[in-house]
Amino acid sequence: MSSTTAPASGQPRPQPAAMYAATGLDVWTMMNQAAASVGAVNLGQGYMSFPPKDFIKRAAQEALADGVQHQYAPPRGRPRLLDEVAARFSGLLGRPIDPASEISVHAGANEALLSAFCAFLEPGKGQEAVLIEPAFDQYTPNVAMAGGTPVYVPLRVRTSKDPAREVISSDDWKLDPAELEAAITSKTRILVLNTPHNPVGKVFTRAELEEIGAIATRHNLLVIADEVYEHLTYGAEHVSIATLPGMWERTITVGSAGKLLGVTGWRVGWAVGPRELIQPTLAAHTRIVFTANTPLQEGVASALSAARDNGFVAVQRAEYQARRNRLMAIFDDVGLPYVAPDGAYYILANAGAVRIPDDYEFPPFIEERGRNFKLAYYFTKEFGVSGIPPAEFYSPAHKDIAGDYIRFAFCKTDEGLDECAQRLQKLKAHLQEARAVPF
Ligand code: PMP
Repeated sequence: MSSTTAPASGQPRPQPAAMYAATGLDVWTMMNQAAASVGAVNLGQGYMSFPPKDFIKRAAQEALADGVQHQYAPPRGRPRLLDEVAARFSGLLGRPIDPASEISVHAGANEALLSAFCAFLEPGKGQEAVLIEPAFDQYTPNVAMAGGTPVYVPLRVRTSKDPAREVISSDDWKLDPAELEAAITSKTRILVLNTPHNPVGKVFTRAELEEIGAIATRHNLLVIADEVYEHLTYGAEHVSIATLPGMWERTITVGSAGKLLGVTGWRVGWAVGPRELIQPTLAAHTRIVFTANTPLQEGVASALSAARDNGFVAVQRAEYQARRNRLMAIFDDVGLPYVAPDGAYYILANAGAVRIPDDYEFPPFIEERGRNFKLAYYFTKEFGVSGIPPAEFYSPAHKDIAGDYIRFAFCKTDEGLDECAQRLQKLKAHLQEARAVPF
């Protein structure tokens, strides 16, 4: 018996399921540690480094101060929050949303996604969910937890520009409808669509969504529309696929209070769709967490109500647009090409011109994860700004598509971005040198 199964007592240990057994560092811990080790500006994980607005913090404080809002909420959600989400989505989706049957409140968008996968994948039947890559890193394990099989279709960069030398647009990342349709089999049940997209920043156009919707309809797929960044677009029009003709009936739209209000730690999100799709999603949610936390549901309800009167969403969008423009200007100044995002709060920078010395030493946990991880690690260590290797958002077969990119989050303070500008002066010199040598 191996030492992993037999402790000193000689008795075998309980063995974990394979998908949870890996003891390796996850990408976030890995890159956070690398950033901390050199005091790098951390533009890695997508959480805000600035506090929420006062009216939002106050909403939570008042909810907690209330004596009665500390017990289980109904699994579907607190009535005030259901009413607020119904009000927002009736506007966004252009149809009256019934708070009593067409919404479920979740412990973050993550848990809404897991609940939807559990509700619509029959374990043990080899049912498939199509994920568009780069795919937010929770989708793959969540599909597996629900007993399904993920199938991947990557976005492809389609431009006459050289992405290693020139700025390209998030709209240059295209989904090939023929490639999508070829990935669908008689076992496919779900298509996951993320718009605005993490990490590309792509906002799918109406024409693109019409093509995707037609394919979903032809193959009778459920569309899980992950629209957690619906409020963050920079000139492009966000279209919910659920608003296209015939698509409401087959779409669950997922949203996040964490993203909408800048409070990712509150863990409140929601799913919106027709009664027939929300009922099983709610049933799964009831078995997974039973109910989302009560006081912060109340806090979100109060904040959403206030936000309707104080113009918060528009102000927030302008603030994020300024942060996006600032980080793009920093990259322009140092000569680092990137994918200019139309939405969300990430920029994929193309660091393909960075030259890593052949004898550079990487810790084993980076070495074994391949080229893109090495690039993100080297960048953090040498240039003092840390990002995330987007290879993490790809299946093994497609990881090379991301090889040259690093994802930087711009939901960060002005001071953080100023510091980033300063640190990257070293990169400017490095790139000028690297580009002077023909390769
Ligand atoms: N979907 C996408 C595309 C995301 O980027 C995130 C958060 N990074 C989520 C879902 C999860 O949102 P929440 O924090 O509300 O669980």
